[in-house]
Amino acid sequence: MRILVVEDEKGIVDFLVQGLKEANYSVDVASDGQAGLDDALCVPYDVVLLDVMLPKMNGFSVAREMRKAGIKTPVIMLTARDAVDDKIHGLDAGADDYLAKPFAFSELLARIRAVLRRPAMSAETVIRAGGIELDLGRREVKRGGESIELSGREFGILEYFMRNAGQVLTRTQIAEHIWNFDAYAGSNVVDVYIGYLRKKIDRDPEKSFIRTIRGIGYQFSTES
Ligand code: CA
Repeated sequence: MRILVVEDEKGIVDFLVQGLKEANYSVDVASDGQAGLDDALCVPYDVVLLDVMLPKMNGFSVAREMRKAGIKTPVIMLTARDAVDDKIHGLDAGADDYLAKPFAFSELLARIRAVLRRPAMSAETVIRAGGIELDLGRREVKRGGESIELSGREFGILEYFMRNAGQVLTRTQIAEHIWNFDAYAGSNVVDVYIGYLRKKIDRDPEKSFIRTIRGIGYQFSTES
């Protein structure tokens, strides 16, 4: 999953980027409101963390412009402590949730998981598909009860597949949700990682969970 952080205070940016990377999220940073809006309009982020007081354009305007443009990405506003008006303005502008600074990182991660599962209307932090179990809270993967060790990137790809089980996903879609601007090195890196993932999750390579759809991309099959 790929997250955009729109924040101008370097200390907070460093804290967020480090923690989010440790939790296996891909992260891009925009340090003013206009840059944040531009990024949110051109990249299909999974979550946007949006500060209120930003240079060039404030967080409320960024959220409002995103919604006006039809972008449905969940937005969590980072508000000043006890600023009740900020919370209300943020939610009115189209934010999904807010978090008052300073906050505990574990709470931020819980809020992120909550907004990510909202479309499915499910309180589960475990996603199950095709005999694979993905525990988003513990960052654990099991197949038939057996634990499987995955790298952060592999976990991210599997999570994206399982959230979209049965759908055909293009290499570009996969890349856009897993790699940030700094790390992306061309679409064949997607094939390489899917190769790693298949080796770890498939029992029988003839019946891979991940089907190659020739000329398009991949599909996570729940039938194998
Ligand atoms: Ca700020």
